[in-house]
Amino acid sequence: MRTRAPNFPDQSLKARKARKAAYHDKWNRENPERVKAWYTKDIEHSRVIRAKWHKENPERKAVANAKWQEANPEYMRVAGRKASRKRRVLKRVLPYVEHVTPMPASGLCPYCRVPMIGKGHELNAPSLDHIVPLAKGGHHISENTMMICRQCNTIKGDRPLSYLLDKIAARDVATH
Ligand SMILES: [Zn+2]
Repeated sequence: MRTRAPNFPDQSLKARKARKAAYHDKWNRENPERVKAWYTKDIEHSRVIRAKWHKENPERKAVANAKWQEANPEYMRVAGRKASRKRRVLKRVLPYVEHVTPMPASGLCPYCRVPMIGKGHELNAPSLDHIVPLAKGGHHISENTMMICRQCNTIKGDRPLSYLLDKIAARDVATH
């Protein structure tokens, strides 16, 4: 007769799932470089997976965020400086000009050419880009804003445009 593993008398689906999750957590903790390699192998794909996880686990995301921020004080200082520069520009530093940034007539992201038909935080949603980032001294004026897809905006961040174009070129090479 086949016997169950004596260590695990509880064979309910819930218990088995919990054991599986614990096993994966342990493996992830013990193999940080493997996890990192997996995440960096396909950054955009891992971003999509992470976004999905964040959406489904808002409480765990908040806990993880707080932990990470505590462990990375230097990053938080830099991020704080960037954010405060951005707030200053948006609120007080002139010229601050209220304006509407039009969508491109084609509806396509001017950089990666994806149709910008997504909503909210979807990767193909339109988002406002500051051509010269606010954090780098750009201003919130119509000459410095354009609509690009959220994915491009996320990749660009406050880096120069050439960084984004390099990433898109590398992606196009990989997929064609
Ligand atoms: Zn794009």
